[in-house]
Amino acid sequence: MSAQPVKVSDITDESSAQTYLDQMIMTTFCRVLDTSRLPPSLVMRLIATALGTTYREVASAHLDGQCPCGWCPLPTIDIEALRSSLEEAAAPKRIDDLHSMVVAGRA
Ligand SMILES: [Zn+2]
Repeated sequence: MSAQPVKVSDITDESSAQTYLDQMIMTTFCRVLDTSRLPPSLVMRLIATALGTTYREVASAHLDGQCPCGWCPLPTIDIEALRSSLEEAAAPKRIDDLHSMVVAGRA
């Protein structure tokens, strides 16, 4: 997670959008956890359900032709991509994953 908070006005590309969403989801998770005292695993499932509901509602609006942006949802493929993204992000990171390593110095 980035040390610098990203404001919505800082979103300029996929990377900054991901950082912003990571921060918002973590903040929301912590607030719901602290307020509700529900178990963390249940709060995680509620967040996953909220994402699925968001997909269904946005996809439905596009399938109904309510949005002129041109996106044509393909629910079977889109939901598999969402499932894959969740698994990839949630799985423990391998220690030898070069993308997750912090540069310690210069050669
Ligand atoms: Zn659209």
